[in-house]
Amino acid sequence: MAIKITRPQGTEDVTPKQIYKWHTIEHMMRETAENFGFHEIRIPTFEQTDLFLRSVGETTDVVQKEMYTVKAKESEFTLRPEGTAGTIRAMLQNGLLNDALPQKVFYLLSCFRHERPQAGRLREFHQFGVEMAGSAGHAADAEIIALARALLDRAGLKNIVLHINSIGCPTCRSDYHKALRAYFEPHKDALCETCQTRLQKNPMRILDCKSLICAEIAKNAPLIPDYLCSDCRTHFETLQNDLKAMQIDFQLDPKIVRGLDYYTKTVFEFITTDIGAQGTICAGGRYDGLIEQLGGKPTPAMGFALGLERLILTMENQGCPFEETKTCGLYIAPMDDTAVPTAMQLGNTLRLSGYQVEYDLMQRCLKAQMKYANKIGAYFVMVLGDNELQSKKANLKNMETGEQTELSLDETFEERFNDLMVQYMFHDF
Ligand code: ATP
Ligand code: MG
Repeated sequence: MAIKITRPQGTEDVTPKQIYKWHTIEHMMRETAENFGFHEIRIPTFEQTDLFLRSVGETTDVVQKEMYTVKAKESEFTLRPEGTAGTIRAMLQNGLLNDALPQKVFYLLSCFRHERPQAGRLREFHQFGVEMAGSAGHAADAEIIALARALLDRAGLKNIVLHINSIGCPTCRSDYHKALRAYFEPHKDALCETCQTRLQKNPMRILDCKSLICAEIAKNAPLIPDYLCSDCRTHFETLQNDLKAMQIDFQLDPKIVRGLDYYTKTVFEFITTDIGAQGTICAGGRYDGLIEQLGGKPTPAMGFALGLERLILTMENQGCPFEETKTCGLYIAPMDDTAVPTAMQLGNTLRLSGYQVEYDLMQRCLKAQMKYANKIGAYFVMVLGDNELQSKKANLKNMETGEQTELSLDETFEERFNDLMVQYMFHDF
């Protein structure tokens, strides 16, 4: 007996019944990003493992615990756990940064992380993200945050709070690291094994540890805002004024450090309490050192990523609207085989003009065809039998009102059908 094969844990299928939700947000994201002057970039699903080690960071959870690494012959690759590293690699490799700055790109892609699956946490998930390279100014930070805010607002979401923080530059970070080491040293033995090694290498990562014990110990740890240099402090204060000027509400949240190593200065998260524990829908920040670290000229940059599954989940919970998918405009019902060629010919002509048209492919009787047309929600149904073929006239039945309209099966057909559809679309039944 054949054994049924099921999808891997932590992955999801999106069936045609659900796809309209994805189309709604994907369309909205593309349009919003383009309104802000961002253009789409597409990058490979896998990259050389080194790319993620050098960008995301060797002491992060993502690299230490969550990467899907595959060996193929003599090479080793990793399925992208996020989009920024690959995007920056592609911008460098394709010389985008030699063009006029800032360079502004966006992407819609799948990411892979080996995590414990739960609501809003998958092993294959999808991100919409934007990256802007070239500007160190506070206005760039404000634009990135405004774009994320615009998306969430356009989706119709309520109660999504923007949390912001600054995690400084390498200058302020070195004093902060000293303070963190001094704070955690007495608790060293109680920290999880991963954090014990982080203590020397990258103590800030301890603040992001998901272990409850580490989180408890970290409760009273020194906070980064107290260690910012004057440059970083001014940048952060000016950004806050920008946000106020744009009427974007925010909360200062000195505890946000972000889970990836490349961040500097501004970091932010949009958080909801509506979908349980995985409340961060969108997260991002500035990463002024990353491009140089990946072999480019020193170039400041900034971006964010938004989880599509978490966005849809929150929209569903809040009853936000989704665009319906295009439904069948006309169902053509041939009474028998002799009418099939006419059904095909008329149907395909209308399809080429942009209508969704269907005709019988199951050799069903008329009654069964009408039932099917109803089920797929066809706006109009046209029956084709001997009478119709001979008189070259057929009735189009409006499935909602039952009203019949006679159309000639000649070169006027398409135009008359178009009139009917326009009437249908603008008529409130
Ligand atoms: P978390 O703290 O929830 O693990 P993260 O800091 O790892 O999030 P980022 O790397 O910043 O997340 O990714 C940006 C966004 O991508 C998140 O805000 C979330 O919406 C989404 N995301 C991250 N990991 C997952 C996942 N495993 N499943 C679904 N969505 C995810
Ligand atoms: Mg994570």
